Amino acid sequence: MKIDVLTLFPEMFSALNESILKRAQNDGKIEINTVNIRDFANNKHKKCDDYPFGGGAGMVMMPQPIFDAFKHVDPDNSALHIFMSPQGQTFSHELACEFASYEHIVILCGHYEGVDQRVIDNLIDKEISIGDYVLTGGELPAMVIIDSLARQIPGVIDGESLLSESFSGEEKVLEYPQYTRPANFNGLEVPEILLSGDHGKIAKWRKEMSEKITAIKRPDLLNKEK
Ligand code: SAM
Repeated sequence: MKIDVLTLFPEMFSALNESILKRAQNDGKIEINTVNIRDFANNKHKKCDDYPFGGGAGMVMMPQPIFDAFKHVDPDNSALHIFMSPQGQTFSHELACEFASYEHIVILCGHYEGVDQRVIDNLIDKEISIGDYVLTGGELPAMVIIDSLARQIPGVIDGESLLSESFSGEEKVLEYPQYTRPANFNGLEVPEILLSGDHGKIAKWRKEMSEKITAIKRPDLLNKEK
């Protein structure tokens, strides 16, 4: 899968070159390409933002460099075009799985007061928000989306561990509590059943714990249509 990210701040994306995402890129499971929108500005000073028509605070990202950047990365207009926006559909596990099935995605990151509406009306398939709050730019939200969808690409994460994770599997509930060595840490003990070696009992305990903590922390998930 290929992801092109259109941004005025490509350096911010160095965070994606660590850990599991680094390995996924090295293994060829995902290609992440940051594209500096400024490189496409056709004016002398490479200006990419201007004052809003009608007045008001802040600057708006101009259409020309963005239209040309899209044309460069997706000349036949076949990719999914996402715009990071606080006004978009709230991101979720379901959307991460959906996005992971595309061969090519282009993500546009807004900055300042946002982007000229003609970009959104003519180039964007989906506006996606990461929550009801406003950030300074779409770069951090784009990284959230990329990290989350990359985990759903086959081979990036062990398939079995994905199934039991929160929001995943058939039940779509929260994951059970996890423990590791030592079994006794300063008098704090691990639940005995996890040391029993009885896989049937352990699976039953984990299922019960999942349901219990979901009922406490996120009861809405239990009533959600599966
Ligand atoms: N003026 C816009 C509004 O009120 O809807 C907010 C612009 S925000 C300061 C600048 C950019 O940050 C947006 O164009 C968007 O790309 C990104 N952004 C901010 N908050 C976001 C969120 N919750 N989810 C996704 N992107 C966000």
